[in-house]
Amino acid sequence: MEIVRRVHAMKEIVRKARARGLRIGLVPTMGFLHDGHLALIRRAADVADLVIVSVFVNPTQFGPEEDYERYPRDLTRDADLCIAEGVEYMFTPEAPEMYRPGPRTYVDVSEISDRLEGASRPGHFRGVATVCLKLFEVCNPHVAVFGRKDAQQVAVVARMAEDLLLDVEILALPTVRNDDGLALSSRNAYLSEAEYDAALSIPRALDAARHVVGEGQARTEEVVAAAREVFDAEPLIEIDYVEVVDPATFLPIPAVDGDGLLVVAVRCGATRLIDNCLLGRHTD
Ligand code: AMP
Repeated sequence: MEIVRRVHAMKEIVRKARARGLRIGLVPTMGFLHDGHLALIRRAADVADLVIVSVFVNPTQFGPEEDYERYPRDLTRDADLCIAEGVEYMFTPEAPEMYRPGPRTYVDVSEISDRLEGASRPGHFRGVATVCLKLFEVCNPHVAVFGRKDAQQVAVVARMAEDLLLDVEILALPTVRNDDGLALSSRNAYLSEAEYDAALSIPRALDAARHVVGEGQARTEEVVAAAREVFDAEPLIEIDYVEVVDPATFLPIPAVDGDGLLVVAVRCGATRLIDNCLLGRHTD
């Protein structure tokens, strides 16, 4: 595997690969890789001839009070994991390589970026959309693989790709969880033992919501109440939001009748965690 740090070098590699007719798969990550990332990498390898994993802690998607500086980083371990998966290239630019001084150009995907994660983390999706467009420009992938763990993020990126007429297929994969149900996340590394136990209320809350809906219908109010009740019993958990939304628009829906997406964001001690699950006819 080759580790590539420069934009021009990555572009040149991709240009040559495309000239050879190779199909390129990109897995954008912020590193500190776990089995959730590895599932995306494996899918990329299934659908592409050459896999690029980008490892870039993107400064523009963090708010000023957020964890950009202390976000966990371990490039050596990430590289070992990528090598074990047969990844061809790891693209790991430093921030100044991706953002030349004083950038004036950003991508804003309106409406879908405004609620939930967008409301709790102002500017977050602008940073995400901007860095994804830059990564698509540098790596020129035929297919880019994302996780539904960040469901709103996938929707924002897919909408950007559609609106900007990008020639990239966006694949979204199910959330990979620990045996105890907690969704894998690089931020789980922040949790103390007690906080980890409290975080297990997240999969329990998703289960409680699923239980209310079953395979039928339910009013959103009842679904949200069931999930909130689980969190309210955990002193270490503070709810940011618990909502049921239309999985395509992320707008609230009054009842689950067909498809609904339960989205949750909580603080567990100092750590903010998000999760989601489909409700109703299609579950995951
Ligand atoms: P991150 O490094 O957290 O920015 O995540 C990089 C990609 O991995 C994003 O597309 C995430 O949605 C995806 N991802 C993160 N956690 C998981 C998980 N537990 N299961 C599946 N995909 C995930």
